[in-house]
Amino acid sequence: MAILEDPLRLVIGDKVAKPLDRALELRTVGDLLRHYPRRYETRGELTDLASLRDGEYVTVQAVIAKVTSRPMRNRRGSIFEATVTDGRGQLVLTFFSRGRQNWRERQLAPGQHGLFSGQVSTFRGKRQLAHPDYELLDAGDDAERAAAEYAAEMIPVYPAAKEITSWTIARSVRVALDVLDIQDPIPRAIRERHGLCGLADALRGIHRPIDWADVRRSRERLKWDEAFLLQTVLAQRRLAATAYLATPRPRVPDGLLDAYDARLPFELTVGQELACAQIGDEIALDHPMHRLLQGEVGSGKTVIAVRAMLQVVDGGGQAVLLAPTEVLAQQHFRSITEQLGPLAQAGELGAAEHATRVALLTGSLGAAARRRALLEAASGGAGIVVGTHALLEEKVQFADLGLVVIDEQHRFGVEQRDALRDKVGDGRPHLLVMTATPIPRTVAMTVFGDLEISTLTELPAGRAPISTHVVPAAEKPHYLERVWERLREEAAQGRQCYVVCPRIGGDGPEGPDDDSAGQDGGPGGDLGDGGLFPETSRPAIAVLDLAAELERGPLSGLRLAVLHGRLPPDEKDRVMRSFAQGPVDVLVTTTVVEVGVDVPNATAMVIMDADRFGVSQLHQLRGRVGRGRHEGLCLLVTEAEEESKSRQRLDAVAGTLDGFKLSRLDLEQRREGDVLGAAQAGRRSSLKLLTLLRDEELIGRARREATELVAADPALARQPALAAALRVLLDQEQAEFLEKA
Ligand code: ADP
Ligand code: MG
Repeated sequence: MAILEDPLRLVIGDKVAKPLDRALELRTVGDLLRHYPRRYETRGELTDLASLRDGEYVTVQAVIAKVTSRPMRNRRGSIFEATVTDGRGQLVLTFFSRGRQNWRERQLAPGQHGLFSGQVSTFRGKRQLAHPDYELLDAGDDAERAAAEYAAEMIPVYPAAKEITSWTIARSVRVALDVLDIQDPIPRAIRERHGLCGLADALRGIHRPIDWADVRRSRERLKWDEAFLLQTVLAQRRLAATAYLATPRPRVPDGLLDAYDARLPFELTVGQELACAQIGDEIALDHPMHRLLQGEVGSGKTVIAVRAMLQVVDGGGQAVLLAPTEVLAQQHFRSITEQLGPLAQAGELGAAEHATRVALLTGSLGAAARRRALLEAASGGAGIVVGTHALLEEKVQFADLGLVVIDEQHRFGVEQRDALRDKVGDGRPHLLVMTATPIPRTVAMTVFGDLEISTLTELPAGRAPISTHVVPAAEKPHYLERVWERLREEAAQGRQCYVVCPRIGGDGPEGPDDDSAGQDGGPGGDLGDGGLFPETSRPAIAVLDLAAELERGPLSGLRLAVLHGRLPPDEKDRVMRSFAQGPVDVLVTTTVVEVGVDVPNATAMVIMDADRFGVSQLHQLRGRVGRGRHEGLCLLVTEAEEESKSRQRLDAVAGTLDGFKLSRLDLEQRREGDVLGAAQAGRRSSLKLLTLLRDEELIGRARREATELVAADPALARQPALAAALRVLLDQEQAEFLEKA
């Protein structure tokens, strides 16, 4: 008997185990049995021998007419051929073997009836089947019925490789299934509640199905395995997190938070109120909050974070806000400082009562400024510290860190997030994660499955809408002229514009150093976009080239500035600031403006080579305009052809402002593994059958069952099989993680 963890060689021998490992990385019985068929073939209706065509997969019923056996010419071994006939046509069955084939000669003797199936080819003018499957019929058999059953049998077709055929895999699976001794990780009660078959049954059913109903039943059960195991891990993580202690920071009346609320120039939306209430309650508890705040671009997440931070500061603690880029960290620092006004001027003349200070800590600070900021953090002088994620590569000391806010963070996985938080503080501060890209619920439940979730679905009232248009530059070149005219018109009315390009260009090295390759807010590694999808082979339009061209030509006389990831950080900050404050009309930029940048007077955005960006990223980008009173305009310039996939993506972006809808579309175009790549440290995703978008309902049920089970039995003491399965899953992930690191 064998269990899933047993090495394959013990079951099928080294000779087959080795190539399975080499070609497909299948090492254990479990690996093999979870290498599911890609599809199934039936042998098909009986074909008569006169009508065979090359390449066809056929089953024929025939009688053996004559057989020959001869040694191979250039190699050791023999060729055995049997010529069969159905009375109308003839077909040669060919078998090669390293040794002699006496047993086959005895089986396939002239006069014997049988069913033969395989793929038709032609060799020296004769139709043949090489290495056909066959089943011999006894004289007494009901030949008709046996034939019908044989032809209907489902043959699994596996993802195979050169050195290992689907056929060998099927045989190995058959052996493994025969000796398998399995404990079902899903408790019986749960199986019964959801009408699931046992694991052994499901594995048999997916590899050797009797019919399609069998396949469906088995797949459903195996999907459950995937969803349930993952959700159990996540439920355990959530539960374990509540076991840590955190300093409670209940709301203090008449403190900074109240003073801030009084200064707010707008009313919170209902969604914001709700999220604030959830967060405010949770940081008042004595175990750490773990919450994800997700919302549409521009839905106003920052205010919510600031209010949480102030509640912590009122409670005597500090808060740190982490942004993915310098540009964004600087912007947060500026806007929070402005919003707080005298509330952030502790120690200065005119400071408010209870005032605190805000410190900025980024990689680009000069040594003196950096020392000052570090000191502010360590002494507790700064209640709020704003920095970049990169900052946490080094140890920053806080006097009393109570809250970590990670902004626009969908690039991180669970492990990275934990590492971030652990680096920041010795204790377990409260944690608030904010995503820029709205993601479908099931993805959130999986990728961010260890977090509770708050979602903002509405935008603040009075927000002017953004209209988006596709500009087909190849078909209608004069449209592009019109684009630049539009920008001049905006500028004439005192408004500002972005022109976004996929590439920096200029003298510097292209590729890895470019923003487009994932640096500093670029698309790479992002959940919300698909990286580059070039439609043409020409290099993408570059910031430096285009800026020079616009300055000379269509936008001459306007005040242009360029922004990209290769600029020194203080230069980036200077450019951003002059754009925010007005002296720049048009900012020609890479995707460094993607995340979070907030300049209300910017009303138009032109995205060049828009087809090279992902759907969610385009949505993010256009969220930079229409943030103030004036309507936003977004022009997607592309040379992609009208019927192309790229054009369809752009049309989808132009067609809706619903970020959830777009992120769904985005995810549909990716492999699940990419989505989970961030969540799981692991290699081949442990999700094989489950698709996050289509199996939403199943994942929801599995999550509820897992949560309940873990609440009643946190260490899974009563579920040894489940505990063992999880150990295997986690060991595997851990091993992969270490391998990669
Ligand atoms: P995001 O959720 O994309 O991070 P921000 O937090 O940057 O959005 O908010 C976008 C803009 O909306 C900011 O200028 C902010 O001051 C403003 N804002 C936030 N909440 C409201 C509200 N309730 N009413 C009006 N404006 C708001
Ligand atoms: Mg934001």
